[in-house]
Amino acid sequence: MKIRGLFSQVNAFLHSVRFRLAVWFAFILAVVLVFFSIFVYYRTAQDVRDQTAARLVSRLREMNTAILHEYRDQGEGDFWNYPGFNGGSPFTLQDYEILVLSDVNGKVAGAWGSIETQQSQDVADQTNALASGKASSRFILMAVQAPNQKTGTKVDFLFNLTPILSENHILGWVILGQPLDPSGQLPRLFWTLLLAGILTLLVAIGGAYWLADRALWPVKAITQTAQDISETDLSRRLNIHSQDELGRLAGTFDRMLARLEAAFNRQRQFTADASHELRTPLTIIGLETGRALSSGRTVEEYRRSLQVIKSENEFMTRLVGELLTLARMDAGQVMLNREKLDLSDLALEVVERHAQLAKARDIQLQTGELPELPILGDRTYLAQMISNLVDNAIKYSPHGDGHWVRVETRASISGELPAAVLSVADNGSGIAAEHLPHLFERFYRVDSARSHNPTQESSNPEEIPGSGLGLAITQWIAQVHGGSITVQSQPGSGTVFEIRIPLARTTENSPEVFPEPG
Ligand code: ADP
Repeated sequence: MKIRGLFSQVNAFLHSVRFRLAVWFAFILAVVLVFFSIFVYYRTAQDVRDQTAARLVSRLREMNTAILHEYRDQGEGDFWNYPGFNGGSPFTLQDYEILVLSDVNGKVAGAWGSIETQQSQDVADQTNALASGKASSRFILMAVQAPNQKTGTKVDFLFNLTPILSENHILGWVILGQPLDPSGQLPRLFWTLLLAGILTLLVAIGGAYWLADRALWPVKAITQTAQDISETDLSRRLNIHSQDELGRLAGTFDRMLARLEAAFNRQRQFTADASHELRTPLTIIGLETGRALSSGRTVEEYRRSLQVIKSENEFMTRLVGELLTLARMDAGQVMLNREKLDLSDLALEVVERHAQLAKARDIQLQTGELPELPILGDRTYLAQMISNLVDNAIKYSPHGDGHWVRVETRASISGELPAAVLSVADNGSGIAAEHLPHLFERFYRVDSARSHNPTQESSNPEEIPGSGLGLAITQWIAQVHGGSITVQSQPGSGTVFEIRIPLARTTENSPEVFPEPG
């Protein structure tokens, strides 16, 4: 169990962004360091070789003066029998310097300095092979047994080969050699580069891991918070306010949580309200049936009870219908049958349908200007939208006393999009200012007691009470058609609802004008 836990921890670590960032960083840095070190090493090696070569050339010049001139001064007899070659070196050699003289056939005539006989012959052979009869000087690099070192340790020597010429034919070769890197500069550089490279890599890996860890801590916080959030506790926030990408991600996450929380709360409120709304009529029906079933009831009392039950039933039917519409709205399942239609025509139809109701309430239902206003929309939903407003205006205005409800339309070209404006005005009791901001909320009623109380004196059992959903649905219909709804009201003097829907373009090619519902 323990081993499995450890294994999954190691696995998680190996797959973490921090680790991968650090590894990638280290890899790239290692490649850069290797190329840099190779470059530095070879540049230095070249410098060292150039310096040795320059030293050799100047030494040869000195030797030329010392040996050859002296030889010529002595009357140029047999070069190889020149007495200076017998015994010690003909020329004072420096530390670790090697001098080999070979004849034109590559035979060693004399070798001085820290070199064995066999090796001096090797040097002479190579020289002979390289020269191939041409009288030009050149350099060769050879590893020879290191002076003062145990056998087998070889050291790179740079040799300069210069032909010994006498009247344009080659007598032999002067081969002068020096250690390529006498001060051991190159091995030192190699170890310095290696150690510095490893150290830099280690520090860089640690630094990269620390930086990645620091940069990614908001991700840790997001993961932790997301794990802590249960379905019902959406109140947690990350509150990371940095300006970088992760700060923005955290901000987006917080805003998403806020939206989810609001939606969740709305849903909870909606369910609670809906249950509450349904419980009231069910209680009333229960009470009425209980009352009707009790003994000694008159026919009139039965009739009254049945009317109450019918009214509550109608209320519930309408409520359930509205709840269904809202549920479909929320789920985005409403299919709109968009067609080109005249908003004024539709308004007139709705007004005509409400004529009877208005008459029964002794309210004058009037129409104002109704110019032709082509819009694109769903006839049924738009009719329901207008109907809700007209119905409310009639329902919430006091009976008689010169009360009126006026429906009119006009075109508005002042805004960004030319719009058709429908207004439903009444001179009823109006709505107090504190209610206006909530009017379009679901289940919001200005006076809930009055809206649903069939036992109240003035209430008419034929009349279906309001559920507080009408204006929410009306607003949604306006919005889904790319429009908006506003309300103005003065308590005591009346209310005006105004709906704006974008006008359809009259050109035949582009009848679509309003945006898809958002
Ligand atoms: P309801 O189904 O209860 O009518 P609505 O959403 O249509 O629900 O209306 C919400 C509330 O707004 C109503 O309860 C009512 O008090 C108020 N209201 C709506 N229209 C008018 C109006 N024309 N005059 C006065 N009050 C209104």
